Amino acid sequence: MTSSRRHHPNLTVANVQVTGRSLVGLDPVVLDDLAEALQVPAPVAAEMFARLAGSDYRRWEAQAARCGFCARPVRLKGRVFRDGVEVFNSADQPDRVLLKRCDNRRQSACPSCSFQYAGDMWHLLYAGLAGGHKGVPDTIAAHPMVFVTLTAPSFGPVHSIRERNERAQRCRPRREGRLCVHGRPTWCMATHNPSEPRLGSPLCADCYDYPAAVLFNWWAPELWRRFTIDLYRTLAAAAGTTEADLREMVRISYAKVAEPQHRGLIHFHAIIRLDATGDGWQPPPIDLPDETFADAVKQAARRTDLDADSHNGQRLRLRFGFQTDVQPIRRPGDLTRASSPLGRWPPTSPSTRARAPKTSVPATVPSTPTALKTVAFPITLSG
Ligand SMILES: [Zn+2]
Ligand SMILES: [Zn+2]
Ligand SMILES: [Zn+2]
Repeated sequence: MTSSRRHHPNLTVANVQVTGRSLVGLDPVVLDDLAEALQVPAPVAAEMFARLAGSDYRRWEAQAARCGFCARPVRLKGRVFRDGVEVFNSADQPDRVLLKRCDNRRQSACPSCSFQYAGDMWHLLYAGLAGGHKGVPDTIAAHPMVFVTLTAPSFGPVHSIRERNERAQRCRPRREGRLCVHGRPTWCMATHNPSEPRLGSPLCADCYDYPAAVLFNWWAPELWRRFTIDLYRTLAAAAGTTEADLREMVRISYAKVAEPQHRGLIHFHAIIRLDATGDGWQPPPIDLPDETFADAVKQAARRTDLDADSHNGQRLRLRFGFQTDVQPIRRPGDLTRASSPLGRWPPTSPSTRARAPKTSVPATVPSTPTALKTVAFPITLSG
């Protein structure tokens, strides 16, 4: 707007009337200049101008500030009564609506809400890892904990980035020069870079098992559920006890995120922690070395499967990929040093928090931070 004033030193705001959301008396040329200076379409510039010049601007600004300047707030209309007396009426608000955060976790949809979500997650995870926060004692940090990555299996070769000794390798080097049954190469000599759109796409779309890939994504939450049930079994075996006895003594808690990969398949990152059953946050009454815990997790991941109905009437056996990664965590610091995406994710300061990677936004967990609390620490795993 300052630049418009430079072009039009005689512009006086007072001559412009604001009726509802539209402007009367604003020279169209001025409006165009505004639009250009602000780099928005002319109707948007007009709305902005009307907003600024409107008599309820301060109240509107306060309202927008209250919902964190959410990019797409939900507009609510209604009244609230207490003991038969009206205590709130949205009609008294600017624009006659109450604004509420959209709570979208994607940065592209709402920078403000996604930022708050990342912060909420950070606090929640930190409480689950280190305690001293949200009613969780700091002794929790000594409980057995692992950081787990469960991947999707392969449904066919895709373009990908390969690294060896931190050096980018060719995607799929030619070995026999064989063509697939559709006459397409089964190799790719390119060394891809991370911004290439074809990353994750199949070498041959007709060879790629799309139906199975879709089924995997659909059933992944159920696979996870089965995995957690099986984990009680494998842990019991590792601890030399029965599953029923273990369930009486030990509670498995976890926080997980589902992260989409380039190839569109999701994989899970999770922190799994063992507590004693019952109230409070006692350590589990079993002696389980880190490696044994990690092995039990790997075994449960390997054993978990599910038979799903395919589109052509066939049954398809779904399971996680072979690349199950399990890292013991002894102190929260271990997590930030981990090389996994989640390791970078709980940021350590507000300035790094803003850079929480977009890819770590879960695709399949419930859509609001509040709902997410039900799957995260310190909520107990069911089943
Ligand atoms: Zn929002
Ligand atoms: Zn390639
Ligand atoms: Zn093919």
